[in-house]
Formats: sequence, C-alpha cells, structure tokens
Amino acid sequence: MAIKITAQKKPVKKSRKNVNTEKNARRLELIQKRLDAGLLSERFPDISDINIHIVQFYGLTDQVFMERTVNMVPGSNIYLLHIPCMEGNCVNGGFDLISTVEEMVSNNRRSGKGKMLCAEKDASGNSHSSISYSISIKYSQAH
Ligand SMILES: [Zn+2]
Repeated sequence: MAIKITAQKKPVKKSRKNVNTEKNARRLELIQKRLDAGLLSERFPDISDINIHIVQFYGLTDQVFMERTVNMVPGSNIYLLHIPCMEGNCVNGGFDLISTVEEMVSNNRRSGKGKMLCAEKDASGNSHSSISYSISIKYSQAH
C-alpha cells in the first residue's frame, strides 16, 4: 500500500510583523496629516485663544472614558482640533472640531457646546463612540 504524503497547508495568518508595519504606516500617516494641517493662526487669523473641554465616552454609552482640556493659541497646530477616536479598530474616524470652530467663527460666537459621533461607522452602520465638547473662543482685537 502506497502512502501518499500531502503537504499540509498552513492557514495564512497575518504575521506580527505585518500588523506592526501597518501600525507604523498608520502612525506616519497621522504625523504627516498633522504636519500638513498647519497652525491655528493660518486657518483662523482672528482667534487669539481657544479653550476646549472634551469628554470622551466608552462606545455609545454615557460612561466617561476620558476627560480633558485643550488650550490653543495662534501657534498651536490646528490638528489639535481633530480628536482621535479611542476605539481600537478605528482607522479613519475621529471627531473633527475644525468645522465646528469654523462655524462658530463665521457666526461670531464665543462659546458653544455639543455632542459628536465618531466619523467612522462599524460593519452594522453604527458609529462606535461619541464625545461631548464645550468650546470657548477669544478673538483678537482686530476682530
Ligand atoms: Zn471611531
């Protein structure tokens, strides 16, 4: 009786190395985005100071994950207004407060608050996390 030996195919697994390479690529992409974004003064020349208080929640619950305050001056990187999503699998999501500030400036508003959902949705079409924010803006004399 002949014994037939067949090579066993190993299931193709994502190697650790690939995962790290992807993570590094993603990190570099974020650094580049930040560098490309420019300064607060370039985008909003009339603003002398912005104070933002952000509460990040676990998923879509109202359980607080993190709370922080960001203070920005004209020399601050505008990308600080892009709040990253803390959901591990989130790639292109996050919370864009740049357009929120844009709207406040065009309406001459000094303060505003609201809630925002992560821009990225999961497979079932739900956004995976949310924040609430309050923003106060000080305008320069020239404004
Ligand atoms: Zn997200």
